[in-house]
Amino acid sequence: MGIDYETLRDPNAEYTMRDLSAETMGCRAKRGGGRDVEITDVQTTMVDGNFPWTLVRVYTDAGIVGTGEAYWGAGVPELIARMKPFLLGENPLDIDRLYEHLIQRMSGEGSLAGVTVTAISGIEVALHDLAGKILEVPAYQLLGGKYRDEVRVYCDCHAGEEREPAANADEAERVVEDLGYDALKFDLDVRSGGEKDRANRHLRNPEIEHKTEIVRAVTEAVGDRADVAFDCHWSFSTGSAKRLASTLEDEDVWWLEDPVPPENHDAQREVTRTTTVPIAAGENVYRKHGHRRLLEEQAVDVIAPDLPKVGGMRETRKIADLADTYYVPVAMHNVSSPVATVAAAHVGTAIPNSLAVEFHSYELDWWGDLVEETVIEAGRIEVPEEPGLGVTLDMDAVAEHLVDGEDLFEEA
Ligand code: MG
Repeated sequence: MGIDYETLRDPNAEYTMRDLSAETMGCRAKRGGGRDVEITDVQTTMVDGNFPWTLVRVYTDAGIVGTGEAYWGAGVPELIARMKPFLLGENPLDIDRLYEHLIQRMSGEGSLAGVTVTAISGIEVALHDLAGKILEVPAYQLLGGKYRDEVRVYCDCHAGEEREPAANADEAERVVEDLGYDALKFDLDVRSGGEKDRANRHLRNPEIEHKTEIVRAVTEAVGDRADVAFDCHWSFSTGSAKRLASTLEDEDVWWLEDPVPPENHDAQREVTRTTTVPIAAGENVYRKHGHRRLLEEQAVDVIAPDLPKVGGMRETRKIADLADTYYVPVAMHNVSSPVATVAAAHVGTAIPNSLAVEFHSYELDWWGDLVEETVIEAGRIEVPEEPGLGVTLDMDAVAEHLVDGEDLFEEA
């Protein structure tokens, strides 16, 4: 027998789970001012960037619209459409309650982790834009205010011949000198040409030497002008990761990212605790619960949540707060359009332990065209002071780059 989605959508259906709808919680009372507003619609559209960016819009009866973005993932727009009935009639200012409401309602379908959390993240970001516009404050103000006026951005780099140390060094030089970044990241899971069998995750000594040559070439090329991190994309065995990290201890590595697969926090902790090279992880776990053991067991030196995937802006702030109790800095993973990138900057200014926000689209020359404002300039994001996220979609640019078959948002 199939699932009765109509019952699942019915906001009046009987649930045994904790029900956080406004009706149950008594939050619907009109208290005047900005609280006298209700959600009337939720829409999505997808832009064909270097990843498929799912843009989300939440509409209200006040005519004010909030824009957010979810990380890419199959089925995210459909999941957002499924959650729409749980948002209609709700007060968009109750961001935290609505987030928990969606987590609860979607629990049976998998809101522990994965694309359901990603879909909720996109809605949550849109709610921050919306609430900021209603209250006429920038989104960072909803998160506790500012630590800094601008957030540092690191540029994820690719060299044409990635296995050649000199090609990586040349690209580093170009990104520092021509694009103005003082923080970079290069891939270290590149092939050396000497691999025997990548499935067993073992690194032979010539492979470790080749990776060390890449690290040395890049860090020596940029010298004091830039910090450089290196990403391993969950590639290596625990023992190989420890040998690689140990070999890199004399090099100037900002952090070494995801040396081992993401699902075993014990292995992650083992690598981190046996080397002085800072180890980063986090982009493949979801919600504060997914990050809890990584932080409580000090299995990372740098935590790297992906905001429009992990649960959104407040969830990222909560992860950052937990990280801060262990004095762990936050380097937000980010492969998004300007919308979620700016959302990351709002969180980055509201938390004490922001290290940097990633930029993953420097090869896409129209990335910045999606919004009317300039977002990244000389390796920094100046945190907007306009209400909400402080960026406005350029609908002509969005229309030009829509995924085939997608439609533009409707007017408010
Ligand atoms: Mg990574």
